[in-house]
Amino acid sequence: MEDLTLLNITDFDLDGKKVFIRSDLNVPIQEGSILNSFRIKNALPTLRYALEKGAKVILASHLGRPEGVEPQYSLNPIADVLSEMLDVDVFFEENILSDVPQYISRSLKKNQIILLENLRFHPGEINNSRFIAQILAKNIDIYINDAFGVSHRRHMSVDALPCCVEKKGIGFLMKQEMEYLNQMKDSSESPFVVVLGGGKVKDKLGLIENLIDKADKLIIGGAMSYVFLKAMGAELGNSKVEIQCIGIARELIEIIERKKKKLFLPKDHLIVPQVQKTFQAKYTKGVDIPPGWQAVDIGSQTCEYFSKALEGAKVIFWNGPMGIFEIPEYSKGTRWIAERIASQNQAFTVIGGGDSVRAVNEYDKVDQYSYVSTGGGASLSYIQGKMLPGIESVKSKIEYIAEEYNTEEE
Ligand code: ADP
Ligand code: MG
Repeated sequence: MEDLTLLNITDFDLDGKKVFIRSDLNVPIQEGSILNSFRIKNALPTLRYALEKGAKVILASHLGRPEGVEPQYSLNPIADVLSEMLDVDVFFEENILSDVPQYISRSLKKNQIILLENLRFHPGEINNSRFIAQILAKNIDIYINDAFGVSHRRHMSVDALPCCVEKKGIGFLMKQEMEYLNQMKDSSESPFVVVLGGGKVKDKLGLIENLIDKADKLIIGGAMSYVFLKAMGAELGNSKVEIQCIGIARELIEIIERKKKKLFLPKDHLIVPQVQKTFQAKYTKGVDIPPGWQAVDIGSQTCEYFSKALEGAKVIFWNGPMGIFEIPEYSKGTRWIAERIASQNQAFTVIGGGDSVRAVNEYDKVDQYSYVSTGGGASLSYIQGKMLPGIESVKSKIEYIAEEYNTEEE
């Protein structure tokens, strides 16, 4: 029976045990300094608990997308930060997978952490290597997955590894992510407003299909909206349009109409002849874009229009920026939406998505949201009810067997 249940870290006796904690410490680091510690802070409750209970913590994470060993993706700077935040010794181990038993033999003591080097320095991580997992598992008493952000991936540390460990469960962050995302998608409050933007249109259309029954209103901006506008016959110049998605967008528009839901699309845009030419940016008067120009943000009419649509909402889920927000000149729409949603005090507001969350962090609005997910793709998959390897693998090794992969998947 135990094999089929999802256990929590609190279900185990951690005293004196070697507890492997897979956290998501994937934070932006530049020249050794951490630019934003949102994810580190979110990893702390589980680490604190494990230390309090006398665990010997083996902590692991990935950082960025290195190709082999690339020093700028080292987790080393995080060891000091963690040590300071938790007030314990945090040792750093470079030779994680090639020389595994070495760090264990160093006789880790209670109330100490060994932070392993970036797991992705080893190809076995993204290839979901069972071989590496078996070596690692020999030195683990209890495995805890607290890395929600990578749990949609079939990677060794969240898939093959827990499949090799008998005692396993999830940490506080994982639990919290699941609870808040469930609360959002199971909410029967209305108006329920879904705000979508960003670029990965193909990946996100499934999200619309999944949320359409719940949602009363669908607000779409960013590159995502161009597919819908195109499907409705708008002229979009050189804007980024995922042509192959137009057919699905048409179907979705029909479904939205049939279900009597409301769809809000941009009425105007900020346009430029080329992305780099910020000084030539200007607003369109309507939805059409002249040839040779491309949209990089929503326009001010659209900001007002979207704000109105958000008024009185009881639940708001937001994923995806409204424009190329990385460039300050094109970030107005994204900031506007981030602030509008943040100001809806009466609403249960949830944001998921790597880039959108980065924007909300940048605008210092995290505290004003009901929940800011640490997951990008993982939260979207979870909301759509997709199977997440990182959750299945901690549930059961009998029903679920990790598959080995040789290619990196998105
Ligand atoms: P998230 O990570 O929040 O899920 P996505 O990854 O789907 O969001 O999309 C974010 C990316 O979409 C950003 O890099 C942003 O620059 C890009 N984007 C948004 N609007 C546009 C646009 N109008 N033209 C080109 N790229 C855009
Ligand atoms: Mg993204």
